[in-house]
Amino acid sequence: MRMSVLVKMYKKKDVVVVGGGTAGVVAALAARRTGAEVLLIEKTHCLGGMMTGGLVVTPNQFRSRTPGHPLVVRGIPLEIFRRVLQAEGTHPGDGEGPVADDHGHMTDPIIVAQILDEMMEEAGIEVLFETVAFDVIREKNAIKGVVIANKSGGQVVLADVVVDATGDADVAAAAGARFMFGRKEDGRIHGGSMLMVVGGVDLKKYMEYLRSDEGISEEEKRWIEDMRRHLECVPSLVDFGSAPVGALRCPPVRLLPFGSPQGSS
Ligand SMILES: Cc1cc2nc3c(=O)[nH]c(=O)nc-3n(C[C@H](O)[C@H](O)[C@H](O)COP(=O)(O)OP(=O)(O)OC[C@H]3O[C@@H](n4cnc5c(N)ncnc54)[C@H](O)[C@@H]3O)c2cc1C
Repeated sequence: MRMSVLVKMYKKKDVVVVGGGTAGVVAALAARRTGAEVLLIEKTHCLGGMMTGGLVVTPNQFRSRTPGHPLVVRGIPLEIFRRVLQAEGTHPGDGEGPVADDHGHMTDPIIVAQILDEMMEEAGIEVLFETVAFDVIREKNAIKGVVIANKSGGQVVLADVVVDATGDADVAAAAGARFMFGRKEDGRIHGGSMLMVVGGVDLKKYMEYLRSDEGISEEEKRWIEDMRRHLECVPSLVDFGSAPVGALRCPPVRLLPFGSPQGSS
């Protein structure tokens, strides 16, 4: 069988960022602010990666764990947080930035995706959605561009700088770079969380239900009390923790609820 694939030239840019997750949008904005012409390539239909499409709506570690929890992540990420706050897509934290919290700072995925779109447009960054980068143009040890595919077919984008923000090192792997996958002993990777959005939850009853779980340890009790803060508004998101593959049943103590920033669902 012979296949002929026609790969057209799309364009040349100063910087091409592959992957429009949180890393990619920040890289694209940072590059654009140096005056570079930037193209951002995203395989799905929205920006934000896991934080929006993956419903991992609780970014954390903006603050240090040292006493006083100073904000250590500022710059463009904090700018994005403040834009999302302005659009009522998150709660204000301590006024300066997101809270210091192991469970992260709740955000609304739809509003975050919308704000990221706006920021790309305002900055003059070209974004290609529903476009996957699957190969690179290599010259000796330098990457000179990427090969992409979308509804318009296969195309080549040349660039002075290619940023791999795929979260999977797709560009690096396509370029032949060595990579490792999973842990050394058996190649297994981090278990995925299962997240979903639910509405109409009676908060009080829900907390009673959590506390009624028999056989929970002291540590788990402390954890439940700790997560109470997330329930100050109507919970709209429930994280099933790392439930075993194929099982949706898990003890109540393994449910990690978050309140929606807008207090409604
Ligand atoms: C289950 C789970 C729970 C987590 N919980 C938290 C949490 O509570 N708090 C927290 O702060 N962090 C959490 N994280 C970590 C957080 O999600 C990551 O640190 C963050 O998403 C990394 O951002 P990123 O932009 O590098 O990658 P991603 O968010 O994965 O974005 C990568 C983007 O690249 C796109 N892409 C991939 N390959 C290609 C390609 N070949 N061509 C074009 N586009 C491509 C993807 O569609 C995606 O939009 C969690 C992660 C997981 C998996």
